[in-house]
Amino acid sequence: MNGHRCFLIILVVFVIISCNRMKQKADLIVTNGDVFTVAANIPKAEAFAVKNGKIVAIGTQDEISAGFDAPEILNLKGKIVYPGFIDAHCHFFGYALGLQYIDLSGCASFDEVIQRLQSEKHTEGKWLVGRGWDQNLWTERHFPDNVRLNQLYPNNPVMLIRVDGHVVLANEAALEAAKIDKSNSFANEQVEIKNNILTGILSETAADKMRSAAPVPAGDELSRLLKEAERRCFAVGLTTVSDAGLDYDQVMVLDSMQKTGALSMQIYAMLTPNEKNICNLIRKGIYQTDNLVARSIKIYADGSLGSRTARLKKPYSDAPGQSGIIVTSPDSMKTLCRMALDNGYQVNTHCIGDSAVSLVLNIYADFLKGRNDLRWRIEHAQVVDPADIHLFGDNSIIPSVQATHATSDMNWAENRLGHERIKDAYAYKSLMNQNGWLANGTDFPIENISPLLTFYAAVSRKDLKGFPEGGFEPENALSREEALQSITIWAAKANFMEKTKGSLEVGKDADFVILDQDILHVPIERVPSTHVENTYIKGVRMK
Ligand SMILES: [Zn+2]
Repeated sequence: MNGHRCFLIILVVFVIISCNRMKQKADLIVTNGDVFTVAANIPKAEAFAVKNGKIVAIGTQDEISAGFDAPEILNLKGKIVYPGFIDAHCHFFGYALGLQYIDLSGCASFDEVIQRLQSEKHTEGKWLVGRGWDQNLWTERHFPDNVRLNQLYPNNPVMLIRVDGHVVLANEAALEAAKIDKSNSFANEQVEIKNNILTGILSETAADKMRSAAPVPAGDELSRLLKEAERRCFAVGLTTVSDAGLDYDQVMVLDSMQKTGALSMQIYAMLTPNEKNICNLIRKGIYQTDNLVARSIKIYADGSLGSRTARLKKPYSDAPGQSGIIVTSPDSMKTLCRMALDNGYQVNTHCIGDSAVSLVLNIYADFLKGRNDLRWRIEHAQVVDPADIHLFGDNSIIPSVQATHATSDMNWAENRLGHERIKDAYAYKSLMNQNGWLANGTDFPIENISPLLTFYAAVSRKDLKGFPEGGFEPENALSREEALQSITIWAAKANFMEKTKGSLEVGKDADFVILDQDILHVPIERVPSTHVENTYIKGVRMK
């Protein structure tokens, strides 16, 4: 070997060694992907490196492989990556509890409800709880009564929760167990009475009282249900859920399961304004761990359209004597708004009817007094009087919508609202235009848990059968880019999480999903069949 060649070999070896030395150590390198970062302007990338659960670099294949080494390399072979999906409004804990209930969703008649109940074994004296019935799917679209339940189950309390959770049907044994009779002082729409007897139909606070009488699983059984709920959420690509209404004990269960590593789901907790939450959480300020944030008060202003308890400015088109109900007094709402301001909390109020939306927008406006960054939210914002919509933009109030409600409700909502008022409902594009962004979710278990169905409904405004052609109120469809942001970065922003979640950028949590197709470009009717191949939270594979 001559000296010249020897020098060259030494030089090459030196360069290789020093290159390797220069490479930074990461825990995971994700490479060879089609990565939609959802950072500003939605730039794409091919690869990224993860260390301690955070993205430390993102860019081209060459940039990442030149700069990083990791014990785990995930070669995506061209697969699609998006940030982990965030559900801005759902009931994760309630969904977990519901996994033990008899599934009544999709029942085409009350007879079918009874059949499903009877196919379940029951022990004398034990509760039977079902969830998901919807009289709007039946030929006679009116509420059932408890006569048959009383005959079939004289010794079992039976409680059947309507799909929206706002109404329950209870038999006599359940009414007795919950101590609900004609002497209870609920507003009269909340307990249905016919021929001087309770029909078993209870709504809003009366329904809540009934629900709290049913036995609640605890300990290992509760952990098992929560883990199963989490598993199902990972399967559809959810990495963060915003739970719209939790009690202190529930927050503590989630928190302790996360701390022992039993639960990985990232949680934004909206707190029900009860004494325990107020004393233990709200008055102590924001509660935050690496995996859970509680900094929001969840208020209910009214009920639901399906149950005719949503509060409208003018009576229901299909029930001229009724305009719905307000379930929290304006004075109580104001007290809670003040408490939120004093403790650094957000206020998220459930408003479905145009009267409820108007009331709450005006109450918020008195506190917010113009543009601000407090991100108070109107949950659902289903029917909004065009005369009120400017209040969202004027006071930076965030609409938090659920795109699948439009396509689930479109077949009967016009009966409730009439030909003119339906145009003011499910107006997501107009709402988005108020602040240039909005938050989107599912409200599961009212709807299917999949954020891909939210995306599909927001963009296509069609149901899963492709109906109606051209879409329902297509002028209120979101673009695909908007819909994607509404279930990632905008949902994060609605939870004050945009610094750590919602897009794939350096310094943020490595929460991401791997899909088999690109939902921004495949024909829209193919989106619902998108397969979620893997779901990662903080660089760890969950699915
Ligand atoms: Zn909800």
